[in-house]
Amino acid sequence: MPEAISHMLEPHSALYLDTRPHVITEGSGIEVRDEDGQSFVDGVAGLWSVTLGYSEPRLVEAATRQMNKLPFYGSFNHRTNDVALALAADLVDIAPIPMGKVFFGNSGSDANDSAIKFARYYHWSQGRPERRKIISHSCGYHGTTLAAGSATGLPHIHHGFGLDTGDFLSAHCPNPLHPSSRGMSESEQVDWLMEDFENLIEEAGPETVAAFISEPILGAGGLIIPPAGYFARLQEILARHDILFIADEVITGYGRTGSMFATTEFGLSPDIITTAKGLSSSYLPISATLVGERVSAALAEGSKQIGTFGHGFTYSGHPVPAAVARETLAIVRERDIPGHVRDVAPHLARGLDKFRGSEAVRDVRGHGLLGGVEFDAAAVGREPGQLGQAVLRAAKERGLLLRAMGDTVVFAPPLIITGEQIDDLMERFTAAYHDVVDSPR
Ligand code: PLP
Repeated sequence: MPEAISHMLEPHSALYLDTRPHVITEGSGIEVRDEDGQSFVDGVAGLWSVTLGYSEPRLVEAATRQMNKLPFYGSFNHRTNDVALALAADLVDIAPIPMGKVFFGNSGSDANDSAIKFARYYHWSQGRPERRKIISHSCGYHGTTLAAGSATGLPHIHHGFGLDTGDFLSAHCPNPLHPSSRGMSESEQVDWLMEDFENLIEEAGPETVAAFISEPILGAGGLIIPPAGYFARLQEILARHDILFIADEVITGYGRTGSMFATTEFGLSPDIITTAKGLSSSYLPISATLVGERVSAALAEGSKQIGTFGHGFTYSGHPVPAAVARETLAIVRERDIPGHVRDVAPHLARGLDKFRGSEAVRDVRGHGLLGGVEFDAAAVGREPGQLGQAVLRAAKERGLLLRAMGDTVVFAPPLIITGEQIDDLMERFTAAYHDVVDSPR
């Protein structure tokens, strides 16, 4: 066997590549540095997640303090640690829906798996064990564990893994650019999507559907912002069929859209909200599944029948990430990070707007500190997907790290970014775009 270039089975990577991965070794503010000493503006905050940037001393101190005091105590069998309890109370305080309880895990995927299990347990405790099916969007991303992966619509998450498809149903992507809705007004498109959604429920049998899960803005599916009125209409249908609504706020939670939760901003009334990433600014892994009053009460009722509620992980409520999360929330509130996002977001919007009507651009969209430029690869004679990757490479040359979903390049910088830094980021991106599009091939 030739000597391996990387012994790590790299997540979400092309495993056949025999080149060394890009190795990041340091970070400060909104920038990271690689092993060759080159610095980059991080246009996607790690994985949409390092909301407070790479050098927040208060988070390091919170972790160190907690490590010294109590490095671990779990939360099984009605015994827990003080930090997990306090963080749960903090979250109930700021939650955008009348809250019952908070469940802690370690990742966005396990938060969604937990939410799906809680939805089924809810129906089971009401005497409806046949309600197991989960509806999600064909362009939704909810993680890669068995249940969250099954609810994720993106084909490459399914290929080869034998995920569950029987109990998972896929609704149309609420993409205003969907080819089937071309030429429709926004409200006609919502009508069309609702008809599809109703049909899906009817075909599945409403009495077999447990929950619907959606991101308020669909991130990894290509930064899709559903048409106005979409969720309001959808919620009427869900309520009519007693189907629970799980809002996946793993990307949008804790400030990214310019509100603490997109749930409030978009007028959603979910039964369960899943969060992770920005909860600890990703300094340590932690997720929180916020369970609304009605579902919490049913979980307690169900557990009465059995004794133990059989769900949870060794690291549920781990005190060190919980301490970091408490400090993150304190900073987000003290510095009014959602307000800061609202103040600087116009810089991103202006930068994106300049791409409207460009030769190789199909669409630009954004909200808060989320942005996307969707390229039209064919317009400049390229294969689908190639233009996004080419612009990413050119951006890297110009000291900017971004991500692309197909031909959509997305922006999700740390939320502490200033207006000037956003202008600089967009200048680098614009230059990278022209490097690619203007150069003869
Ligand atoms: N949900 C959403 C909306 C996400 O964007 C992600 C990850 O990017 C997840 C869930 C999964 O989170 P994790 O990678 O922490 O399992």
